[in-house]
Amino acid sequence: MILDAEEELKNYSTQQSESKWLIMPLLIGGRMERKARVLTELPYNPKIAYFSMEICVRSDIPTYSGGLGILAGDTIRSCADLNIPIVAITLLSEKGYFDQDIGEEGEQVEKPSNFNPASSMYLVARETSVRIGNSQVKIRPWFYPVTGSSGYQVPVIFLDTNVEGNGEWERTLTSYLYGGDEKYRLAQEIVLGIGGVRILKALGFTGIYRYHMNEGHASLLTLELYNKTRNVDYVRSQCVFTTHTPVPAGHDKFDIELVRELMGEEFPKEILPHVVFDGKLNMTKLGMFFSHYINGVAKRHREVSQELFPGYSIDSITNGVHSPTWVSKPFRRLFNIYIPGWKSDPYMLRYASSIPKNEIWKAHMEAKKKLLEYVKRSTEIELDLEVFTIGFARRMTEYKRPDMLISDLSELLRIKEEAGDFQIIYSGKAHPKDTQGKMMIRKIFRAQKELEGKIKIVFIKNYNMEIAKLMVSGVDLWLNNPKIPMEASGTSGMKAAHNGVPQLSTLDGWWKEGCIEGVTGWSIGNGEPSNDEEEREDMYRKLREVIIPMFYREREKWIEIMRNCIALNASFFNTQRMVEQYVLNAYFL
Ligand SMILES: *Cc1c(COP(=O)(O)O)cnc(C)c1O
Repeated sequence: MILDAEEELKNYSTQQSESKWLIMPLLIGGRMERKARVLTELPYNPKIAYFSMEICVRSDIPTYSGGLGILAGDTIRSCADLNIPIVAITLLSEKGYFDQDIGEEGEQVEKPSNFNPASSMYLVARETSVRIGNSQVKIRPWFYPVTGSSGYQVPVIFLDTNVEGNGEWERTLTSYLYGGDEKYRLAQEIVLGIGGVRILKALGFTGIYRYHMNEGHASLLTLELYNKTRNVDYVRSQCVFTTHTPVPAGHDKFDIELVRELMGEEFPKEILPHVVFDGKLNMTKLGMFFSHYINGVAKRHREVSQELFPGYSIDSITNGVHSPTWVSKPFRRLFNIYIPGWKSDPYMLRYASSIPKNEIWKAHMEAKKKLLEYVKRSTEIELDLEVFTIGFARRMTEYKRPDMLISDLSELLRIKEEAGDFQIIYSGKAHPKDTQGKMMIRKIFRAQKELEGKIKIVFIKNYNMEIAKLMVSGVDLWLNNPKIPMEASGTSGMKAAHNGVPQLSTLDGWWKEGCIEGVTGWSIGNGEPSNDEEEREDMYRKLREVIIPMFYREREKWIEIMRNCIALNASFFNTQRMVEQYVLNAYFL
């Protein structure tokens, strides 16, 4: 990975004149000295600024926790492919989200991720500051270029408050993603929103006329724009907002007293009645109030959001994934032969129906072998290449119900008996404060022990982008069973579709649009919210009566479904299509 980074940096520097470069030792935290490459200016002129609390630019830069950060990264990668004049702003998150270790009984242990920004990014010799409480907090920008398929680059700016002169607490504000208490979080959002707008100015990016808030964490940027003009319509003409959360509890809210303490006069009084409810500042409402365009991330999510926020007109742009990033090597080879040009035009994946079935199967088995090798290396458990393999990997949290499949072990044995053998691969982190989510990991470990010698279950620790790539391409079935309507979109099933792996899922988020029963995969339930019991029975029944029998006894039909996943779903559920919709509906109109 470091090689990759070096390569990218080399590409970058050959495009720039060397005179702009300085290399300086840098004192970080007053303790560790590290060499940073320092740029004096950035030769870009972006028109759109994309703000996100987390962005995954590369799997070994741990500035992301999961779906939202991966989506932001895929969005930026597609913007680079499409030559969109955009700049992305995020926090440095120098200690990452966390690295996950797992004890004997499945207990999660969290460790800070070790990451030195100087090894993969450039420091830019510019600075700005924001007021937080009684202190003036200095912010400096790190820069990472994301290069598109034709060499076009999108700058990603990582904000860093670990700067000489800042107070002890202020220096930690860009350390932990989603860490700390409410005060820490609000301070982070001041750095992202207000600091973000100011850093754009400090970098000389004066041509920006669109600010895109990817979720409510960045909503304070609207106040920075408003305070300069005191003109709501002017701010609205510049701002667009994407919501990612379908339930009220998921939206960021801050006690108004805390807001007063940290922001003082910078929070304009006349705006308060529109965005404060029950004594809390609602960050989603703040973002929406100042935006002329608002969207949810799937058609179903639009409907749910419209009910939550009846005063606003909400559109939908369904999420996607960056096709060249998520197609595994064996399928990349296949697409290059049968669908030349697919990388720059993923719509072309619809021609996957012309790929011979035996080639699809061969590529899949190669990806499966690679995953099973990784499983062996990391867990010392040997899975069987010929046995039907179910994958479940995502954030371990209650509404995603990671324990649904293993909640009735006798039923699993019955499925094995009646339909055929199978094995299960799990992966995922629980947020450090999510006790329910942590309990679910323990439950998986308990099931693993109880089924020992009968059904193999493995848990791969420290889920990240690299493990996701192996899993979405290497399993035979992608399982996803969120509780309706809690999943705004979900994207891992789209990654699986890019590798010809069908999904079995409740009809929530994108699957309501992507599922054609028995053609691109299968549904659990009928799309209406129902109880866990009914949905679990339906899942077991489909596995026992339809899915596993077809896998073993109707291989031709199975591969037909694999091909449909690519032709019908990968061709549409990609960020190229998604970014084109943002450009037409949110950025340039
Ligand atoms: C794609 C991805 C996610 C999102 O998974 P969902 O099932 O869509 O919630 C989370 N984490 C990582 C590392 C991913 O690659």
